[in-house]
Amino acid sequence: MEIILQPIEKDIANDILNLLYDSLSTAFNNINVTIAPTLQVNIQNFMNRQRNQLKSPVLLHWILEKMKPTKEMKILVICDMDAYSGELNFVFGEAHLRGSIAAIYLARLKQEFYDLESNELVFYDRVTKEAIHELGHSFGLFHCNNKKCVMHFSNSLYDTDFKNKIFCKNCKKFL
Ligand SMILES: [Zn+2]
Ligand SMILES: [Zn+2]
Repeated sequence: MEIILQPIEKDIANDILNLLYDSLSTAFNNINVTIAPTLQVNIQNFMNRQRNQLKSPVLLHWILEKMKPTKEMKILVICDMDAYSGELNFVFGEAHLRGSIAAIYLARLKQEFYDLESNELVFYDRVTKEAIHELGHSFGLFHCNNKKCVMHFSNSLYDTDFKNKIFCKNCKKFL
């Protein structure tokens, strides 16, 4: 099994990629993590122009078709944009349950998005939690009722900031 970090579109800072490399290697022990070169995507094809947001499900489907991952691969797309899915006004990330494709969207994880002062540590923590959460879905985990568990559903950044970067005992057992 292998986790591939796949930055798309705008370059993602090496700090973020290295952070994810470390935190995912720890969260999913015994799984190799690799960082792929940035994939150039014609992002306009995936935009809802009225909303100025990415259509996450369409992007995930396109990546799946393009990269044709094997059953031994989990691809985590990292995109520095704002996205939505279905009825949800926005998503911090999305994954195919037990699938090969997941994504995280960085725009709304930044304090600056809400006109607050930028805070790198807060941002890094959120990125880590969202990445572990979405990959958790890839590995078949559902949402967890434990508000401290990384698999708890984040309806807001309050939820994200409240939860830990790790799986609770029950979720860990399932992995
Ligand atoms: Zn989720
Ligand atoms: Zn849990």
